This record gives sequence, C-alpha cells and structure tokens, in this order.
Amino acid sequence: YFDHGAVNKQTDYHRSLPKHSSSHIGSAKTPNDYIFGDIIGDGSYSKVKRATDKRSWKEYAIKVLDKRYIVKENKVKYVNIERDSMMRLNGYPGIARLFHTFQDDLKLYYVLEYAPNGELLHYIKKYRFLNEASVQFYAAEILSSIEFMHSCGIIHRDLKPENILFDHNMHIKITDFGTAKILPPKYANSPDSTMFSSSFVGTAEYVAPELLSKQVVSKSSDVWAFACVVFQMITGSPPFHGRDPGVIFRKIMSLDYDLPKLMPIEMVPLFTSIFRLQTTERPSIRELKQFSFFHDISWNDLFFQTPPPLQ
Ligand code: ATP
Repeated sequence: YFDHGAVNKQTDYHRSLPKHSSSHIGSAKTPNDYIFGDIIGDGSYSKVKRATDKRSWKEYAIKVLDKRYIVKENKVKYVNIERDSMMRLNGYPGIARLFHTFQDDLKLYYVLEYAPNGELLHYIKKYRFLNEASVQFYAAEILSSIEFMHSCGIIHRDLKPENILFDHNMHIKITDFGTAKILPPKYANSPDSTMFSSSFVGTAEYVAPELLSKQVVSKSSDVWAFACVVFQMITGSPPFHGRDPGVIFRKIMSLDYDLPKLMPIEMVPLFTSIFRLQTTERPSIRELKQFSFFHDISWNDLFFQTPPPLQ
C-alpha cells in the first residue's frame, strides 16, 4: 500500500526566500538518524514528535503514523494525499515543509519543518481575540499561502486555527494536508468557483455550504474557511457555531451569523462578500487582495517582514 521513499524532488518555488537546509533532500533516512523528543501533537491516527537530526542537530517535527491503524481504518488514501500534496507545495514559506518520508515495519514517518510557536488557536484563546494589525498581517499571510496552494492545484479542505502554526519568527506555517484535494493538472488553473465532487471532510465550523448541500468543494471553499478563521481572530469565535454539528450546519446554510457592532468598518466587506451560498458570488483571491482591509499590506515580501506583536 505504502509508496513512501525519500522526498527526492526538491521544488523550490521561491528560491529567493530563506530556506531550511536542504542538504539531505533525496538521501534515504531512517528513524535511527533522529533523537526523538516530546510528543507535540496527538492526532486521530498519528503522533507528532519533536526530533533532532543526529548529524546536523536541526530540529524537526516528525509525524509518526501507525500503519496497521491506517489500513484498518481505510486511511491509506489520505496519508498518500498528505505526502503528495506537501511535496508539491514544498518551498513556499507559509506552508510547513516536508523534508523526508520513510517507513519501518510498523510505522510511517513524515519529517516536517518544525514550527515551535504552536497553533493560531492557542493565541486566539490566550488573548481572547487578536489586535487589528495582527489580524490584517496574518490574514494576508494565510491568504497568500492559500493562493499558492490553489495555483499548485491543491484545495486544503480543512483550514482552521489548529492547522495554522507559527515558526520561530512568528510567521505562519499551514499544516495538515491529510484531507487535501489534489486537482487533475488540467483543473489547476480553473476559476475559484469551479466545483469538484468531495467526500465529507473538514471541520463543522469552517465547512462551506456547497459541501453540505451538494457534496462538492471548490477553491472558494478554502476562501470560506479563511473568512471563518479571520472572523475568529477578530472576535474570538468562529462565525457559525453551536452546540452540535446539526445546529452549525443549519446556521451555515441560512448564512446566520452576527457581525459585532464594533467590528472595524473596513473588515465588513470581507465577510459579506465571502459568506454567500453561491461560489460564483464570492470574490477571487486576487480580488480579495485589493480589499481596503488589506490596503497597506505589501504582498511581495510578507514573509520577510517582522510580524506585528500579538499583544
Ligand atoms: P488531527 O487528527 O487532529 O487533524 P492530524 O493527525 O491530522 O491531527 P496534524 O494536524 O498534522 O495531525 O498535527 C497534530 C498537531 O501536531 C498539530 O495541530 C500541531 O499542534 C502539532 N504539529 C503538527 N505539525 C507540526 C509542526 N510541523 N511543527 C510543530 N507542531 C506540529
């Protein structure tokens, strides 16, 4: 089932940007090459551990997946999608990089770029909501990263504050491509509203209405989730929430959300334009970047800038 060799193709889409050492790309690795440390994440069929490369002393996050469980739960497709989509995206600064994959009899290992500063969710909870400068800056980093993913023909399908991590300079690293959709090459450049059939994946609060009503996704379904995340950064809670998924889904389908009275006026169009049932009515990412909310963002060097302080 598992076709997991070393990541031997280095695709660096942004050669001018600072990058992690790539000296070992292509060389076969084994668990013995690392000293494993604490568990930093515990997913449904995987554990993420901190690990140090014995030769370079560089730190990584290694996702360790249990083969037996993956086969038993029919998840082989998803772990392969995770590897293939991350390989395609390798090199973009806003996306966690996959350096190597290897396996032993029991486990698969994904050696990921380590994001030591935790999840966006942690900071939203810690500060209750984020200041306007941070919301603007991180919304721009997230949007740029989604734009890049889409240009590579990948729809993430599970964007949420738990999957947006921070590196040592407090720039974002998007992770968790286990439920991504990889589009056939001829559709990579299709409009954001083009819909593709989709199984039910994602997280209730961030799921777009077309998945609920028609079992389809589009690039603009990621834009919907993006708007939910930005809303949560501003207010502390996602726009569509409730005690159980049924309540949340009804609110999504009836576009039942409240814009807080104190929301800065230039943020409002972001939500009123994206929270539409018809994917064709939502703005494209190119259009979103022109919104007044982003008027003082310098898009080309975002990942070279110093992020505004979160507090
Ligand atoms: P879930 O079932 O919860 O979706 P998962 O098995 O898909 O989880 P991930 O979401 O990839 O696993 O990782 C789980 C958690 O591990 C993340 O939310 C994060 O806290 C931590 N983690 C993952 N990748 C990294 C990384 N590169 N650097 C630091 N921490 C990470």
